[in-house]
Amino acid sequence: MTTAEREPWLLTPGPLTTTIETKKAMLHDWGSRDEEFNETNARLRRRLLAIAGAEDSHVCVTLQGSGTFIVEAAMATLIPRDGKSLVLINGAYGERMVKILDYLGRSHISHKTPEDTPCDIGLLDQALAADPAITHVLVIHCETTSGLLNPVEAVAAITAKHRRALIVDSMSAFGALPLDVKSVPCDAVMASANKCLEGVPGMGFALIRRAALERAKGNAHSLSLDLYDQWTAMEKTRQWRFTPPTHVIAAFDRALDQFEAEGGVKGRGSRYADNCRTLVDGMREMGFKTLLADEIQAPIIITFLTPADTKFDFQVFYDLLKDRGYVIYPGKLTVADSFRIGCMGALGETEIRGALDAVRATITEMGVADCAPGNS
Ligand SMILES: *Cc1c(COP(=O)(O)O)cnc(C)c1O
Repeated sequence: MTTAEREPWLLTPGPLTTTIETKKAMLHDWGSRDEEFNETNARLRRRLLAIAGAEDSHVCVTLQGSGTFIVEAAMATLIPRDGKSLVLINGAYGERMVKILDYLGRSHISHKTPEDTPCDIGLLDQALAADPAITHVLVIHCETTSGLLNPVEAVAAITAKHRRALIVDSMSAFGALPLDVKSVPCDAVMASANKCLEGVPGMGFALIRRAALERAKGNAHSLSLDLYDQWTAMEKTRQWRFTPPTHVIAAFDRALDQFEAEGGVKGRGSRYADNCRTLVDGMREMGFKTLLADEIQAPIIITFLTPADTKFDFQVFYDLLKDRGYVIYPGKLTVADSFRIGCMGALGETEIRGALDAVRATITEMGVADCAPGNS
């Protein structure tokens, strides 16, 4: 197939490229009360718990919508109305949690580190010691804004030491980077179908400590986002409260077959790590610079600084790459001009090498002689 006939490869943080098997799982209509569908749903929830070693301590609550819906729902359900949150911010998704708390009218403070700097464990320790009113710590596992990996094990250890609750947005890491609730004790970890687990968009899930959810009745301000209600209804009837995203669930279950066949978190993580290394090495050879040092780079999405060469224009670069069959992602940094290339999804070495060839051809076509960023 030529690139014009083939769908472009999505080098994005989700929705991302899914396999043909996953897409084929959607070629059927299910009744929402169908017993086979209920069984798929129950199996899916069990499998998601197992990924985090959470079968004994946590329950899996699923929810319709994009990732933000499950983040907002978990926060609204678990943080009591008189709770106080400390949000660790180093990018747009941490900022979004603060915005959610503002909407919810829940008290909060935040600690901000620059977009290229992991959250500060020492400061967290001091803040929790100094303010006994803080009930919840909120952290982003992989900050998709930059691709930065936050030290969630250390955050969890400090939070547990001070006997506060931890909520982890692991949206863009879950399934590719290890997160076991025994080594990262937390009340909730949230993710969605369409990131590292390589399903299609339309639902999220939260793994919630059973004891915390049992105490959460009446916290939520919203019926559709009340995960306590969603959980108790699903336990009782095996069904979703409101119209379930049937096709998304079927595709997700099929995507998990492939995830398990690939060796789970270990297998998926190592494919993404290989993708990341191939991509970064190839881009550096052309003169591009990454925002992050390799030690804090998660193998999910990589931020490259925009070349200083005036012939470089992101929209032109994007369009020409898309013509060659590869879709990249704009930058989201507030501090520097940048763009992002994802290495997650149903992609391997062939596709990453193809993307590098496309980048090389594109910068030549644009007449960009030097891919180095300005001395910012
Ligand atoms: C993708 C993502 C979300 C959810 O974003 P949606 O656009 O609502 O799916 C939340 N947090 C992080 C860290 C993400 O990468």
